[in-house]
Amino acid sequence: MDVNEKQTSRREVLRLVGRVGVLGCLASLAGMLTGRLRGGCIEAGPACKGCPDQDGCDLVTPPTVWQLDPAKCTNCGQCATDCVLAQSAVRCFHTHALCGHCKLCFGYFEPGARVLSSAAENQLCPTGAIQRRFVEDPYYAYTIEKDLCIGCSKCVHGCSMFGNGSLYLQVDHELCKNCNECSIARRCPANAFERVPVSEAYLLKGQGEEEGN
Ligand code: SF4
Ligand code: SF4
Ligand code: SF4
Repeated sequence: MDVNEKQTSRREVLRLVGRVGVLGCLASLAGMLTGRLRGGCIEAGPACKGCPDQDGCDLVTPPTVWQLDPAKCTNCGQCATDCVLAQSAVRCFHTHALCGHCKLCFGYFEPGARVLSSAAENQLCPTGAIQRRFVEDPYYAYTIEKDLCIGCSKCVHGCSMFGNGSLYLQVDHELCKNCNECSIARRCPANAFERVPVSEAYLLKGQGEEEGN
């Protein structure tokens, strides 16, 4: 093979490689378009918001977030101190439909409170995050001010020991940084933390019933 023949065959090889590259790019583009059409989504990867169409989406595995199972939580109190955030991302949630609306609420009053009034010394919550409102004799409504809650679990313990268990802890996903390794999960003595699909980011008690703060 002389020099001219060698150059010709090299050019042919380069041309072939170029064609294969173009075909590869076209195939990738077709895949992206199929994904967009199927899921109506262009946010693959970590930016995926877990939209309702994700079942038909073959772009990514649906992302997950940390959540704690209230059925496993033993109210040890570590959620308040073990989060990487200065004020824990774990907060108290209240399923009102499960609440007994008790006059003597064991999640609200200090054990042994002599007067059932809202005076600060009678309240169990260290930050005054639980609001108590008279409904009709003998019923009261209790709501959580999430901004004030530090996730200490004191009210949850009282409610689950002597009440209906309508107060419980959850990772608030408006606050959680979704750390790769949740520092609370690492230390939780009840092994109550797990990864859940972002489309089902809360493990709420009384699912389908009224839930609020
Ligand atoms: S660390 Fe675990 S057991 Fe303790 S309060 Fe949090 S979820 Fe409950
Ligand atoms: S007692 Fe603790 S967990 Fe309950 S509302 Fe107050 S700060 Fe939150
Ligand atoms: S994932 Fe990070 S920010 Fe969220 S609860 Fe755990 S430690 Fe806190």
